[in-house]
Amino acid sequence: MTKFAHAGDFCPNEACPDYGKLQSDQQRNIKKAGKTKSGRQRYQCKTCGQTKTLTKGTIFYRRRVAEREIIETLAFIAEGVRVSSLARVKGHKGDTILDWIRAAARHAEVIEEILMAEYQLDRGQLDALWSYVGNKGEKKAIPKPMKVASSGALR
Ligand SMILES: [Zn+2]
Repeated sequence: MTKFAHAGDFCPNEACPDYGKLQSDQQRNIKKAGKTKSGRQRYQCKTCGQTKTLTKGTIFYRRRVAEREIIETLAFIAEGVRVSSLARVKGHKGDTILDWIRAAARHAEVIEEILMAEYQLDRGQLDALWSYVGNKGEKKAIPKPMKVASSGALR
């Protein structure tokens, strides 16, 4: 079963001793630390002192396009809109959109939480989204057979 994590549920700092630990009665290293200028909740890890918002160190940090726009685009794709159509309508490159999906897949649980809550997407739609990049985030039970190609023709 997939475990969903909210932003602020764990420390995204890989160097932190409490990195990735979900908050519980025993684990309480994350505290709220005000809001950013754009009104986003900021969290601070008491263990490493790092402050972060939803995106920092997790999903779309430092991407030039607004997170809202990216999430909305992902939702459209999950609902079956083709990447090429979205690229045309939204004015983003198809490669850029695929890059967003790839980035999102690395944090699938956080993204799924957002998409399910805000766009009422179901499991099948989310799987369809990840299938675009052949990566279901954390749920990779069976490792893909490695293609050893001496010709250099990878993928
Ligand atoms: Zn930390």
